[in-house]
Amino acid sequence: MKTNYLKKFLVVGYFLWTGFLLSETALNGGSQILSPKIHNEEELELILKEEVSKLGMNDKEITAKFGKSRLGFGQTALYSNGRYEIILDAGKNRANLKHELYHIYDGHFNSILKIKNPLSRMVYSFFVCEPQSLLYQSLGIKI
Ligand SMILES: [Zn+2]
Repeated sequence: MKTNYLKKFLVVGYFLWTGFLLSETALNGGSQILSPKIHNEEELELILKEEVSKLGMNDKEITAKFGKSRLGFGQTALYSNGRYEIILDAGKNRANLKHELYHIYDGHFNSILKIKNPLSRMVYSFFVCEPQSLLYQSLGIKI
């Protein structure tokens, strides 16, 4: 009886996990293909202002530039003075900029900093922060 329950749990878990990964891949892949490219840092500056306004974050100090990131697409740094710096790497497009801005908008940095355990931090980031930012970058949905 316990073995059957465990098997069902593993099968359901496998399909949920696979569905989660496939939907994340589809959302990210689709938005990467469809999103307008950002050609230079002047254009980046204009699009940044536009997207920051859409999220009502004009009170925050946010800069963006092209450069190298840890995972190759883009990243955001939060400095001790409260300034955010977005770096767009291979993903020089509006979708990636929106992705990074959503991390700021939804307070992901502050939430993650409160989690002391590195594994919990990684799990929270992977299952909460990244899917939320992916939804915003691809479909404009804020949850
Ligand atoms: Zn992210």
